Amino acid sequence: MHGVRNRAWRFSDDQFAEYTTALGCAMKTASWQADLQQLRHLRLFNNVAASSISRLLKEFRACDLEAGEVLLSPFNRNQYLYLLLQGQLKVHLGSLDSQAVSTLKVGDCAGEISFIDNDHPSAYVVATESCCVLRLHRESLFKLFQQSPELMHNLLELLCDRVRKGNRIILDSERTANIDPLTGAYNRRWLEHIFERESTRSAFNDKPLCMLMLDVDHFKVYNDQHGHLAGDYALCWMAHTLRNQLRPKDSLSRFGGEEFVILLPESGSEEARNIGERLRQALHLVSSFHSPIGVLPGVTVSIGLAQKQPKDSLQGLIARADSALYRAKQQGRDRLCD
Ligand code: GH3
Ligand code: MG
Ligand code: MG
Repeated sequence: MHGVRNRAWRFSDDQFAEYTTALGCAMKTASWQADLQQLRHLRLFNNVAASSISRLLKEFRACDLEAGEVLLSPFNRNQYLYLLLQGQLKVHLGSLDSQAVSTLKVGDCAGEISFIDNDHPSAYVVATESCCVLRLHRESLFKLFQQSPELMHNLLELLCDRVRKGNRIILDSERTANIDPLTGAYNRRWLEHIFERESTRSAFNDKPLCMLMLDVDHFKVYNDQHGHLAGDYALCWMAHTLRNQLRPKDSLSRFGGEEFVILLPESGSEEARNIGERLRQALHLVSSFHSPIGVLPGVTVSIGLAQKQPKDSLQGLIARADSALYRAKQQGRDRLCD
């Protein structure tokens, strides 16, 4: 991307505000022939009378953006609605270095939230290539709202889109924050969350709750013999195999490295032992599996089992499952102890 992005993160907030303001001023006016036909098909003008659009045309100013130029930033109050006529814009939350959360294409609007509440934009909008945008001051559009309810309706629809997109982003980031990217299993953050939920539920329903702690046997040797990448595939395969054996209410979390924790709601130690044995067997019985780098040997696991006592915290339960796991290792591995 353009130098703007690379340099911006080193600036203080004030410096950056100054810098982006300067950029806003520098935005070049483009020679755009007011063109009713070009605008009529845009979503913002859907069903809006040609006479209303014609009136607005006089108020529009076309601007060119270079690749990397920042159109909107949370440091600058925004009073304009931008319509993208040519090129592509990316939206970044938090910082310009973060991954873009969405891409705006020809016909899309930018700045519609901050332009309405006359506040700072909540995101950065940056040109990824040469762009041409039409900009319209809030007052010009607000005046026209009185004559064209269709315009207001269209803008509300665009805002609804934005809200829905925002909700999807929240859902996605909530999901990825709880998932281990290598194995697709839940992570420790999720374990803490689900433990709270399940222990409350089990206490309320007077049902048992068990934990299995699994650790891959001799995994260091596996890595040494087959390479770290092979080790990664073994962890993925293992997580996949375990998940296939579990009930929907059970949750598999990667606790760290080659250690996994499984919470088994509504299961007493006898049932948990059977489930753990089934998991151990499922891995033990597979001598090799297919991976993108060829056929690799399977792995075995040792398992520690602990049933939650009424006063157990997550740490307390983990400590007891870990002690049981230690005994399983001591007794020769590839087994379950409680
Ligand atoms: P034990 O049977 O006693 O558990 O022996 P071990 O070799 O499995 O235990 P140790 O704690 O000595 O080694 C764990 C190994 O797991 C070392 C580490 O490199 C490997 N490991 C941890 N996380 C990952 C990972 O994400 N990918 C790969 N490939 N290896 C990992
Ligand atoms: Mg370990
Ligand atoms: Mg191990």
